[in-house]
Amino acid sequence: MAQAKAAWVDFKAIKSQVSIVQILERYGILQSLAKSGNGDRMSGACPIHGGTNKTHFRVSASKNCWNCFGKCQSGGNVIDFVAKKEGVEFRDAALLIQKWFPRAVSEQQPEVAAAVQQSDPVVPTVSEDSPRQEQTPVIEPAEADQPHSNPTLKFALNKLDAEHPYLRERGLTEDTIAAFGLGYCGKGLLRGYIAIPIHNMEGELVAYAGRWPGVPGEGVGKYKLPQGFRKNLELFNQHRATTCDSDAPLVVVEGYFDAIKLHQAGYERVVALMGSSLSMEQEESIVRLCKEDGRVMLFLDNDEAGRKGQADALTRLSKRLYAHTVHLGSREVQPEHLSPAELRAVLPFPEGRFP
Ligand SMILES: [Zn+2]
Repeated sequence: MAQAKAAWVDFKAIKSQVSIVQILERYGILQSLAKSGNGDRMSGACPIHGGTNKTHFRVSASKNCWNCFGKCQSGGNVIDFVAKKEGVEFRDAALLIQKWFPRAVSEQQPEVAAAVQQSDPVVPTVSEDSPRQEQTPVIEPAEADQPHSNPTLKFALNKLDAEHPYLRERGLTEDTIAAFGLGYCGKGLLRGYIAIPIHNMEGELVAYAGRWPGVPGEGVGKYKLPQGFRKNLELFNQHRATTCDSDAPLVVVEGYFDAIKLHQAGYERVVALMGSSLSMEQEESIVRLCKEDGRVMLFLDNDEAGRKGQADALTRLSKRLYAHTVHLGSREVQPEHLSPAELRAVLPFPEGRFP
């Protein structure tokens, strides 16, 4: 590679800040692995020697390493994996990783990447007090300017059950379920969950979130997201919010179902943070989505976390947009639980747009 001569590679930073999960995800291998130990340990067929024995290739997310106990007997860290997979030298593999994950190397905490995000949405926080460029000698200036993103999925779940009773219990209509591609997943990593497709701004599928239908049992998370997926880079429903006509201000809610219910009530300019805090990347996306009329309305849950997240988001967005909040008085409610009539009372629906 042309840049190899001049580039400074910080192997230590790559090894500590890019997770094996991200690497496996990028290769489209992650989904084929079986998980155990609360998602920390994974096993499958060895992608290095192309084996078929489904136990030979083992991965530890927390130790950020992998091993083949079959034919090739290889193993090591993320750089070793890419070197073997690409058939290149260790240094060139490090350069490749640096190119693939320019921002991950600069800002992502390893435990965020490796964590199994199974609980209620918590947006991974990013240190805001650091001038990122100075801290990150691994990043070449030209690469640091590149947008960073979640890779698009190389598959789609096409056997989802859209008739699962949970979706109706949640008050969703057949049209809404179809529009959002929701359905119960009978197998794979999301087995037992309602799958919720997440798209990037361009409308490409980047992940499925899982919502357990009902109250989950011991050790089962209410929500499930794929390892390595960085939800702080996305806004749920952003691709629909950007294509619908923008007479109405952009409304920002917390959860998937809040956004879905607003959409069903006829308010399409809505995105969800997938949590109660606004990431820096989400802030940028909101500013971009609001460039036409500059209006944003924050409509987070009226509970402690929501109020805190809303106050912070309001402070930050007010500096760049006409930002308002939706007032629900003292009721501890979330947008999902309001009737269409109640939503019309608090949101500026475009004329004639509600059913
Ligand atoms: Zn092997």
